[in-house]
Amino acid sequence: MTPTSKLLARFLSVALLLTWFAPLRGQQRPFSGAAEIEQSLHKLNELGTVLMIAAHPDDERTNVLAYFARGRHMRTAYLSLTRGEGGQNLIGSEQGAQLGIIRTQELLDARQIDGAEQFFTRAIDFGFTKTAAETLEKWGHDRILGDVVWVIRNYRPDVIILGFSGTPRDGHGQHQTSAILGKEAFDAAGDPKRFPEQLQYVQPWRARRIVRAPGFGAPPGGGRGGQGGGRGGRGSRGPTEQAPAADQLPPLPKAGVVETGAFNPVLGYSYDELAVLSRSMHHSQGTGAMRRPGGGTSEFELVGGAPASKDLFDEIDTSWNRLPGGAAVAPILAEAIRAYEPTHPEKALPLLARARPLIAAIADPLAKVKLAELDETVALCAGLWAEAQAHQPDSTPGSPLAVTTTVVNRSHAALSFDGAVMEGMWNEALPNPPAKLAYNQPLALEFSKPVPATQPYSQPYWLVKPPSGDVYTVDDQRLVGLPDTPPVARVRLRFSLDGVAIELVRPVHYRYASRAEGERERPLVVAPPVAVNLPESVALFPSAASRKVHVAVQANVAKAAGALRLDAPAGWKVAPQSQPFQVAVVGEQQELSFDVTPPAGESVAPLRAVATIGGREIASGMQRIEYPHIPIQTLFPPSNIKLVRADIKVTAHKIGYIMGAGDGMPDALRQLGLDVTPLTESDLAQGDLSRFDAIVAGVRAYNVRGDLRANQPRLMKYVENGGTYVVQYQSGENPPGGGRGPGGGPAPGAGRGGQQAAQTQQPPPIPPSNIGPYPITIPGSNQWRVTVEDAPVTFTHPDSRLLQYPNHISEKDFQGWVQERGLLFATQWDPKYQTVLASGDPGEKPLEGGELWTHYGKGVYIFTSYSWFRQLPAGVPGAYRIFANLLSAR
Ligand SMILES: [Zn+2]
Repeated sequence: MTPTSKLLARFLSVALLLTWFAPLRGQQRPFSGAAEIEQSLHKLNELGTVLMIAAHPDDERTNVLAYFARGRHMRTAYLSLTRGEGGQNLIGSEQGAQLGIIRTQELLDARQIDGAEQFFTRAIDFGFTKTAAETLEKWGHDRILGDVVWVIRNYRPDVIILGFSGTPRDGHGQHQTSAILGKEAFDAAGDPKRFPEQLQYVQPWRARRIVRAPGFGAPPGGGRGGQGGGRGGRGSRGPTEQAPAADQLPPLPKAGVVETGAFNPVLGYSYDELAVLSRSMHHSQGTGAMRRPGGGTSEFELVGGAPASKDLFDEIDTSWNRLPGGAAVAPILAEAIRAYEPTHPEKALPLLARARPLIAAIADPLAKVKLAELDETVALCAGLWAEAQAHQPDSTPGSPLAVTTTVVNRSHAALSFDGAVMEGMWNEALPNPPAKLAYNQPLALEFSKPVPATQPYSQPYWLVKPPSGDVYTVDDQRLVGLPDTPPVARVRLRFSLDGVAIELVRPVHYRYASRAEGERERPLVVAPPVAVNLPESVALFPSAASRKVHVAVQANVAKAAGALRLDAPAGWKVAPQSQPFQVAVVGEQQELSFDVTPPAGESVAPLRAVATIGGREIASGMQRIEYPHIPIQTLFPPSNIKLVRADIKVTAHKIGYIMGAGDGMPDALRQLGLDVTPLTESDLAQGDLSRFDAIVAGVRAYNVRGDLRANQPRLMKYVENGGTYVVQYQSGENPPGGGRGPGGGPAPGAGRGGQQAAQTQQPPPIPPSNIGPYPITIPGSNQWRVTVEDAPVTFTHPDSRLLQYPNHISEKDFQGWVQERGLLFATQWDPKYQTVLASGDPGEKPLEGGELWTHYGKGVYIFTSYSWFRQLPAGVPGAYRIFANLLSAR
């Protein structure tokens, strides 16, 4: 057991494990005051629970979540199998696990609006796949089924809503898998013989019914499944945009309709409107949309369990009567709702105090959840401020840290403060005598202690250990499912109200004022004394010559001094082996350079940088993910660099790069020793393009840069005069919701009422004639892609210069690729283009539209939608060689 998990074991009641954390995140509160209190009071008297299951952040039917959480006041949660690591990133260069961190935070922001809770499994989104078979092979059927069962046994839903059908009509293989596993888990969770190792923490649980949400596999315009009046269809789809011509879905019994377009006068929005606000939190995915008033409905279909004729909760008792001893609670809480006055919420307090001991006496796990809800409602009604504020955003093991805990009773309610305990990395009572809380008088409790020397560094819990294939490694079962990492420290505060004890838990956080953005908060972080940062993740050696590898040692403590060494793999040489470092001021860094000499032959191997300070070895860097819309995230990635020794020749030297939606290609090309210049709007409009040996258009550059489209004639002139122009993948269609980039599935809101606005501000689709010298048709569909990264590739013209000069390309150059071969291959092209490669997913016809080229005037034009933007930054030697040939084409 790690120290973190021991602390968890000590302080967390198992039944509360999945829910205790949810209220601890208080970034912005979309609803507060009367609206929030009204919601909380109603929620106390409602005991229904609903869980939605799908594959990715943004697959969820947000309007359905908002309807149940905000309209029916039920416990409502979304289980996303993955954190969306394989998706696109429209706001920055983070990919993979780091993108997963951003999307996790965006999803938590979305949940604050729609009122639902959030869970995940350990599965990693490895990018777009067409089949459930590939998905299950990569994830391991039982591993992820076990996680879904675990979440069901913890959350104990009455109704499970599947976001997909489990058939090829869902498109993305991960979508199919979410429904397949959801259906299996519905049965397995109630069977004590399945995953018995979980039963030391949880009981088997069988939901009453499992249903399918509307809106998947629907024909354009919204046919089946209550599309909110057929609105939200994406209009016309190209012929390639149809769902696979698979089986019709078997007709299923109807299981109730809900009115997601209904207006909630307390909140001032309909649930469809809330869904739009919630989805617009996914900044990295470009799902921003706009609200529309008016009616919308969602109709469900029964997949398993008890039939339902009118409503998803038919025949399910969602009142307090469902719990032994609960019957006496409901009338008191109903009275509290009646007694509630927006200007005097404290009038509800005596009734809440009467209900509390009755709830506390009930042994059911649901009663424990309700007890925590009741205590938070008391705090809301009393205007009770409770906060644990660290004096700095981060600290290091052994360094002192001060925390001020503040409570303020902002009502005239007779509340007294009974004491507080600091938990997590410390465990001790805060020294303070019990006190009556006078009206609006802050009571501050000071705490100062060193961070324990053995305290592990803060790290997203799913990234503490390296993943096993496409599944995160999480040793402590009780962390599985949690949306975010428990705070390193928290304060448990006890109050009494009319002689009845209540308890609130607050994370120790860091709240601060940003001059530009106003009030922000971020989690308290424990960092190593120094961070060993490698500016590159790959070091390429295109010849046997040695080159420098740079390492920056950044201090998190004052006067950090020690030694830094590089652990080189066999056959590689490092000089010097070790160097001293000394950094005086916290936050400053010292850059150290080492000469690294590769072996003569080809080799790919990891190099590790290790700092030794105070007898302690540190082999991790420190990375902050900072965006205005999410709390700052800190992680400590391993200080490893991938060394790649491969013979790569390139005849071009000066490269112009037209950055599109964002990719890591410019740095990857610099690894070849190329002089790469990003091209600005004015460069394209009036710069001298002839100084470049080759110009490269970044991924989706034609989709996001109007200036590129506008200056297409200048680029064609550049080619005509002898330049080489390489265009990477572009999307031929701009679907609602901003379109999907690498690894995305079909736009999940497509054809779904209430989730997407019809109008988004996007440039019109790229005309076939607007991208190359002769027409090329690019699809917007996911069908025109090769998703299996080791799918066979053949040469349609083996003697093509692109395969021969200056590097001779062979089958071997297609080994070791990552995530996929390519996407959005051209569907039609002018006969003046020549093809080079053909590739297709297993069982499908090979596609030839992934690389097209032609001479035009004195120059060369190349369209290539193989995923170079993934392969080159990952240091795939063969991909480097092939791309070097494209740049060198004459
Ligand atoms: Zn999805």
